[in-house]
Amino acid sequence: MKEIRVRFAPSPTGYLHVGGLRTALYNYLFARKNNGKFILRIEDTDRNRYVEGAVENLIAALKWAGLDYDEGPDVGGNYGPYMQSQRLDIYKKFADELIAKGDAYYCFCTTERLHKLREEQEKQKLPQAKYDKHCLSLFREEIEQNFNNNLPYVIRLNVKPNQKIIFDDIIRERVEFDSNNVDDQVLIKSDGYPTYHLANVVDDYLMKISHVIRGEEWLSSTPKHALLYDAFGWERPKFAHLPLLLNPDKSKLSKRQGDVAVEDYRDKGYLKDALINFVALLGWNAGDDKEFYYMNELIDKFSLDRVNKAGAVFDLQKLNWLNAEHLRKMPDDDILKLLKKEILNSQFSILNLPDNYLLQIIAAMKERVSFAKEFITTCQYFYTAPTEYEQKSVEKNWKPETPEQLRKLIDEFKLLDNPTKEDFEHAFGKTADQLGIGKGKLIHPLRLAVSGQSTGPGMFDLLFILGKEEVIKRIEKAIEILG
Ligand code: GLU
Repeated sequence: MKEIRVRFAPSPTGYLHVGGLRTALYNYLFARKNNGKFILRIEDTDRNRYVEGAVENLIAALKWAGLDYDEGPDVGGNYGPYMQSQRLDIYKKFADELIAKGDAYYCFCTTERLHKLREEQEKQKLPQAKYDKHCLSLFREEIEQNFNNNLPYVIRLNVKPNQKIIFDDIIRERVEFDSNNVDDQVLIKSDGYPTYHLANVVDDYLMKISHVIRGEEWLSSTPKHALLYDAFGWERPKFAHLPLLLNPDKSKLSKRQGDVAVEDYRDKGYLKDALINFVALLGWNAGDDKEFYYMNELIDKFSLDRVNKAGAVFDLQKLNWLNAEHLRKMPDDDILKLLKKEILNSQFSILNLPDNYLLQIIAAMKERVSFAKEFITTCQYFYTAPTEYEQKSVEKNWKPETPEQLRKLIDEFKLLDNPTKEDFEHAFGKTADQLGIGKGKLIHPLRLAVSGQSTGPGMFDLLFILGKEEVIKRIEKAIEILG
C-alpha cells in the first residue's frame, strides 16, 4: 500500500484561522491514525499578500495546538524546501513542460484587454467571465517577437472544451464539472511566480501527497487541478473537501460575528485541549454521542468516512463548555501553573501566595469555573477582603439582629485552635442552636461578611481556606460597615 502522506498548506495571512486549524487537525489525525506523515508546506507565492512574521505566527499557533509535523520549513525533510517561494525554478520547469505538450500557452493580453473582455461578457450575461483563448492562436514568430520586445506575459492552462471532469471525493463522493465552465487558469503570473493552482499540484506530486484534505472553498479549484494532473500524466491524489464552518445564523464563519484567529482563543485563555476537542467536532463525529475527547482518543477514532458534507456551526457555548470540562479534568498541579500565570497578570501579583493556598482555592472552585482566570475573577475574596457587599443579599439577609448573632459566632470561633473545616461547621451549628435560629438565618450573613457575595464554594471550605484570624477580622469589619 502507498504511504499515507498528507499536508497542511496554508498561505500565511498573519494568523491561523480556526478553519485552518480544523484542516490541519484533520490532516494530522488522519496521518497519525494511519501511521502516515503530516507535512507543513507554506504557500507563499502571492507576493501581494505577504505579511511580515506571518509564517512564524502560523508555526507558533500549530505548535501551541500540539500539531507537530514530520516535515516542514523549520524541521526539514526529504522533499523540501517546504516554502513555495523557495521553489520557483521547479514551477517554471513544469510550466514549460506543459507548453511543450500544448497543455499551456503564453498569453500577452494587457490588463486593458482583459478588462474589456470581462465587461463584454458581463453585458452578455455569461454565467462566468472566461478568458477567450485569444493568445492560443499566436504563431511562434509572434511569441518570439513579444519576448524580444520584453512584453509582460503569463502562462495559461489550455482547458479543452466539452469535457467532463470527474473526480471522487471521499466526503462529497462523485463530483463532476463541465470543462466549458473552467477558465484557462493562469499558471505563471507576469512576476514569474506561479499561481496557487500550479504550485499546489506540482508540490503535491513532488512531495508524494496521497490525500488532499482541505476546505470546501477549494472544491471549485479541483477540476483545474485534476486537469493538471492529467496533463502531466500523474496519478491524482485522493481528495477530501471538508465542510464549511458557519456562524450560528448559518452564514459563513466571519470575523464580524466573533473571533476567527486561533491566537485570539489562546490569548483569551482557552485550553489547547478544549479548542482541539471542539474543532475536531466541527464536521466529524465518531458515530456516538461522545463529545469529550483528548487528542490520543481523536487519533484512535478519526476517519474521513465520518466527516459530514453539511456545514458545521461554530457554537461558542459548546467551546466554553468543553473548556470547563477540560479544565476540571486537569491535574490540580497543572491548573496551579495556569493560575500562577493569571495571577502574574493581575493586581494580585504582589501577594506572593503560597502554592498550597492556591491549591485549596483550585479544589474549592474547580467545579464552578470555565476558565483559569475565573479562579481569580469569580472569587476575589480569596485574595483580598471584601470592601463592598452584594446589595441585594444585604437587603434580604442582613437583619437588625445579625451583628449580635455574628458576634456570638466570633466568640465561638475564637475558642477554636487551628480549626478544620469540620471544627468550623461544628462551632457554627452550636452557635445557631444556642441562638435558637435555623442555620440558614446565619449562613447567608456569614457568607456576605467573609466574601461580600451571596454565592461561592461550600461555606466551611471557604472559612477553612481563609483561616480563623482572617474570618474573624472580616466578620468584624462587615459588622462595622453594615452595622
Ligand atoms: N494555500 C491554500 C490555502 O491557503 C491551500 C489549499 C489546499 O490545501 O490546497 O488554504
